[in-house]
Amino acid sequence: MQIVVTIKQVPDTAEIRIDPKTGNLIREGVESIINPDDRHAIEAALQIREKLGGSVTGICMGPPQAIDAISEALGLGIDKGILLMDNYFAGADTWATSFTLGRAVEKIGDCDLIICGHQAIDGDTAQVGPQLAEYLNIPQITYVKDIEEATDKKIVVKCMTDKGYERIECPLPALITVMRQLNEPRFPRFDWLINACREKAPIETWNAADLGVKASQVGLQGSLTNVINTFSPKFERRGEILEGTAEKTVKDFMKILEENKLI
Ligand SMILES: Cc1cc2nc3c(=O)[nH]c(=O)nc-3n(C[C@H](O)[C@H](O)[C@H](O)COP(=O)(O)OP(=O)(O)OC[C@H]3O[C@@H](n4cnc5c(N)ncnc54)[C@H](O)[C@@H]3O)c2cc1C
Repeated sequence: MQIVVTIKQVPDTAEIRIDPKTGNLIREGVESIINPDDRHAIEAALQIREKLGGSVTGICMGPPQAIDAISEALGLGIDKGILLMDNYFAGADTWATSFTLGRAVEKIGDCDLIICGHQAIDGDTAQVGPQLAEYLNIPQITYVKDIEEATDKKIVVKCMTDKGYERIECPLPALITVMRQLNEPRFPRFDWLINACREKAPIETWNAADLGVKASQVGLQGSLTNVINTFSPKFERRGEILEGTAEKTVKDFMKILEENKLI
């Protein structure tokens, strides 16, 4: 079974701060980690490999420091890591990200199962997994909270719905996006972590030329969306004292609720 896991490096905080002047994320002073959902994706891949054999390849698109996320994943037990890194990839929206990851999956070749985290804690869109499946033209199952069975030919999973779960059987190749309820990620092995930082570590770096893509297809140029403005919502408390008889204040109060579309 050849499994690919997508691994995003994210800032270690759910409290994303935005520079009010530039509109960019403030990354200074914030430690980077493997996106939490991706840890569950890695764990799922390792458990399937332990049962069925094969290999687990982690792919990550990001800046040079994203190699730390791949090294950590090697410490957890993946077989190989690929860092997709090129100045042309910068400024990618979710489509350009999915396209670039898709080209990498095609270059790896013969993948049976692709496992993505459900959502990244910084970008938060949950679009990359589904878009990647669309690009590769393979079936996708999202919100996976349990993997009941995995064989070389099919996967049987439970995925969360608003009212409970659905049990889905799907032929391979396929892509799943996984939730944190799926499993308990293991800790990295110290000796594997050290090996992951050595020169001979099984990590490759692929750029746009390696993927056979043009600058116009990736990064900012290849993005279908354009962020016009980003801002932190401002919270402001305002008080108003309603005066008059009880009847009048209740009427005024109801009017305010109506005007603000609160009722
Ligand atoms: C116009 C625009 C410009 C942007 N410019 C930048 C920029 O300059 N720099 C920047 O850092 N971000 C930028 N972003 C944000 C960037 O597009 C998203 O962070 C990225 O596409 C992933 O989306 P997400 O974080 O919502 O991931 P989600 O869709 O929530 O992630 C789901 C899963 O997909 C996988 N995944 C997502 N991203 C990656 C990745 N890079 N590598 C491997 N696996 C991945 C992971 O398994 C993850 O758990 C920009 C976004 C837009 C719309």
